[in-house]
Amino acid sequence: MSVTELSAPPAIAPAVERSLSGWGRSSWSRCAVRRPRGAAEVVDALASSARSGRHAIARGAGRSYGDAAQSQGGDVLDMTGLNRVLSIDPQRMLVTAEAGATVGQLMARLSAHGLTLPVVPGTRHVTLGGAIASDIHGKNHHCDGAFARHVTALTLCTPGGEILELTPESDADLFYGTLGGMGLTGVVVEATVRAEPLSSPWVTGDLDRTNGLVETLELLSGHERHRYSVAWLDLLAPGAKMGRAIVSRADPLAPGDAPRPARGRRGVAGSYPGALSRPPLADVPRAFPGALLRPSSVRMFNALHWWAAPRRERGRPLALAPYFFPLDVLGEWNRLYGASGLVQYQFVIPSGREGALERCFALIAERKVPVYLAVFKRFGAAFGGALSFPLEGWTLAIDIPASAPGLGAALRDLDEIVAGSGGRVYLTKDSRMRGDAIEAMYPQLDRFREQQAQIDPEGLLRSDLARRLGLCGAGE
Ligand SMILES: Cc1cc2nc3c(=O)[nH]c(=O)nc-3n(C[C@H](O)[C@H](O)[C@H](O)COP(=O)(O)OP(=O)(O)OC[C@H]3O[C@@H](n4cnc5c(N)ncnc54)[C@H](O)[C@@H]3O)c2cc1C
Repeated sequence: MSVTELSAPPAIAPAVERSLSGWGRSSWSRCAVRRPRGAAEVVDALASSARSGRHAIARGAGRSYGDAAQSQGGDVLDMTGLNRVLSIDPQRMLVTAEAGATVGQLMARLSAHGLTLPVVPGTRHVTLGGAIASDIHGKNHHCDGAFARHVTALTLCTPGGEILELTPESDADLFYGTLGGMGLTGVVVEATVRAEPLSSPWVTGDLDRTNGLVETLELLSGHERHRYSVAWLDLLAPGAKMGRAIVSRADPLAPGDAPRPARGRRGVAGSYPGALSRPPLADVPRAFPGALLRPSSVRMFNALHWWAAPRRERGRPLALAPYFFPLDVLGEWNRLYGASGLVQYQFVIPSGREGALERCFALIAERKVPVYLAVFKRFGAAFGGALSFPLEGWTLAIDIPASAPGLGAALRDLDEIVAGSGGRVYLTKDSRMRGDAIEAMYPQLDRFREQQAQIDPEGLLRSDLARRLGLCGAGE
């Protein structure tokens, strides 16, 4: 046996057959899952799929709600095995990490250098690869744009097995096409992202309880000076109260203003990175009865939630991790929706088309869609690839039990209003749209298909989402 053979890395572990779904647990696929541990294994895994004529797609933490990270009868590359933070450059404020590193992991490592990520989603569990492929947004999109704007370089494994170092200068089309490209241009192996100073592990929050939609829009609109803003909307409130909300706006707290820790307790700064890796307080049990989420109980919950909020509160210090990631305290909360799972429907309506927004809200109320969670916010200018979701306007994300009667028809009608207004539905949350619905929503779709066919002429990369919506150029 030669020395090369002795020191050669072990071959990639064989694929394991699994049923996979997104976070919504509403559409499932049988897939063969491989967990590569380095770029070479990603190349091997893609080559093996190509040889056997099977489709392949990358998967991060599986936090997309729909069917973007699975491929029925195909191969899935579970990227969580590539999860090292490779370097942090505090002077240039850049972090380079493998694609399977999570947002929580990156924030914890950056905090040791007094830095943080400029854009984070509502859960710390998403991976860097998933954040790039969905071009995720946070509560500060109106100030800082989405994740793509802060990515400076990518290492991409192409369907043909090449490893490309991409920057906006080296290949602008492929670089930007990958930002928001839903994993269809290649497998991101590592990436470099701009960080920013972490002024303190606290924000200072203002809360307002509004009485209706007009007041809610006013608080979140053009002259908004806060860096973070988001509203929880009561869409089931009757008449003029519809659109009443709890509007939360916040800004980073200056270091000197951070609350002092109580005596004998761990230091404030010390507790921050800990909060980014803390396990949930409780897990929802496997067989949770979804029937508990009846429309009548949802309506009652919404009303109580609204009444329980203070009318107006100013300058309350809030710890950063629970402020950004409130849902992470409850493990597997998607099981709350029972065996049929949940649909998250998120759309954006362009600024100036507020009439369409009101029609959407009215439709949700008329059809009695049982909306448990409705998160509303304002987006700033669009940036990123052809399939990137955010555009300047208003975005609403609603969680609905997948088994709600009449849901399919109600969402199809909403799709029409959204598309007719020049808006769009967020692909990473979708599990149900049809191909014809998205042509108007993503006017650069043809350009994306061309790019995709160029990089993947054999049609190797396909997710269930891509097949259902016809996102790819070559083949079906
Ligand atoms: C509780 C909760 C809150 C959320 N809040 C927000 C929010 O505030 N804003 C927001 O924008 N989104 C939000 N999301 C959605 C989530 O951020 C995105 O769906 C994100 O893409 C999930 O990342 P992931 O690592 O789980 O990727 P997955 O769900 O595994 O995959 C998502 C997509 O990324 C692709 N992908 C994954 N890894 C790679 C890779 N290495 N190379 C190429 N492609 C890859 C997959 O093919 C797929 O198309 C939330 C989700 C949950 C569950």
